[in-house]
Amino acid sequence: MINRISEQELQKQKEYAARVRAAVQTAAFERGGPYKFCVVTYGCQQNEADSERLAGMLFDMGYEKADSEEDADIILVNTCAVREHAEKRALSVTGQYKHLKEKNPRLMIGVCGCMVSQEHRLDDIKFRYPYVDFAFGTSYLWQLPSIIYDRMKKKKRLFLLDTEDDGNIAEDLPVLRQCSYRAWLSVMYGCNNFCTYCVVPHVRGRERSRYKEDIIKEAKELVADGVKDITLLGQNVNSYGRGLYDDYGFPELLRDINEIDGDFTIRFMTSHPKDATKKLIDTMACCEKIAPQLHLPLQAGSDRVLQRMNRHYTLDSYKELVSYAREKIPGITLTSDIMVGFPGETEEDFEQTLKALTDIKYDMVYSFIYSRRKNTPAAEYEDQIPEDVKGERFRRMLEVQSDIGLKINEGYIGKTVRVLCDGESKNDPDTLSGRTDGGKNICFTGKCPAGEYTQVKVTAARPFVLMGEEI
Ligand code: SAH
Ligand code: SF4
Repeated sequence: MINRISEQELQKQKEYAARVRAAVQTAAFERGGPYKFCVVTYGCQQNEADSERLAGMLFDMGYEKADSEEDADIILVNTCAVREHAEKRALSVTGQYKHLKEKNPRLMIGVCGCMVSQEHRLDDIKFRYPYVDFAFGTSYLWQLPSIIYDRMKKKKRLFLLDTEDDGNIAEDLPVLRQCSYRAWLSVMYGCNNFCTYCVVPHVRGRERSRYKEDIIKEAKELVADGVKDITLLGQNVNSYGRGLYDDYGFPELLRDINEIDGDFTIRFMTSHPKDATKKLIDTMACCEKIAPQLHLPLQAGSDRVLQRMNRHYTLDSYKELVSYAREKIPGITLTSDIMVGFPGETEEDFEQTLKALTDIKYDMVYSFIYSRRKNTPAAEYEDQIPEDVKGERFRRMLEVQSDIGLKINEGYIGKTVRVLCDGESKNDPDTLSGRTDGGKNICFTGKCPAGEYTQVKVTAARPFVLMGEEI
């Protein structure tokens, strides 16, 4: 069911935003200084994109961006639920804000996002964090103005739990982007795949695609704004358009975005291997603005484990697609998500994952230790893997992949690559950092300003980064 928020509902939120703005401006005037916001983000790119909307709405409500939490009058913690570690960090950080409220009694603290889309976590916040003013699940994001207004006026704490049919799409929310030349563009929300380990379908609701016109309009605006690198987002972009169009899917959307005039690059994530098709690869190959980069999460190398994960592909079908992609797009950067320690994973299964890594040879792998998630089928599987075994497998996998990544990167030495510069490197102020067209991290010496393209000659390689000099 695709559910769009009506114009009237969105208009109501704009009215609430205006009321909050008036209150914020008055308070700022009385204090003699602006009211400031801080959005703290955990988790995936979708969360980062959501945080840019939260920031956009806060800015629209008269708050200015704070340099840090200490400096803020409203803090929003946008949480992740994919692994326990992410939840623990968000909870511990939220705990630390208690003392900020003691210093600044006007401070408002809100917790939102995937973690609090789960009832037990919303209750945790409600009962164990009494200084949190409000919390709301992912489907309430667009209602931030009325939530803040209610909290200001009614003085009552607010806790809003997502329900199964809360899946909705709100268009035209204000956005405050982190970066002027790279942008996220959500093409769809939610997920219908129910991989047995994964909490995402439970916290982000059913899959729903935006209208192509809305997406293309946003892409055009981004390009007109000077954005050079657009990443299309969805949990499974390959099912874009399902339930909305009969004969228009992700490849068609890519073609339409590729048609937009301008000097920019298109990336996308994530592609579920079960729905990634040769048509997708052909489209990538013939559209000059699409980056030669594919993130195709394998998860595990054993068909038995893949089946228990409910992934709906086999290692062979996966490899066939990879071969096709490498044939059609020579030099394509291929990355993956790999999980170790899934319930029931035997030493033999795990070795198949290592073998898959050695056979496929990814440029880079995002690796995860299986984390038991409440309300998911795998959490109930009896054969959970002991933590020490998971840890040991994780280390072995990193070692194998690190060698593979290094060898691939060494193959770039001596070549010249185009790079979109991100400015001074975080680790070394004497070098610049950026990304190649294939999305690889590169550190280099040179003078290129952030947001500009330049040519860099690769002089050295590490497992996760190339090194070079601007020419
Ligand atoms: N929709 C994307 C992935 C979203 S979550 C896809 O299907 O590829 C990002 C990654 O987190 C997943 O690919 C998976 O490797 C990892 N992940 C998800 N749930 C997890 C869990 N319970 N424990 C450990 N890793 C998990
Ligand atoms: Fe989670 Fe699977 Fe959906 Fe990805 S496709 S978000 S891993 S359920």
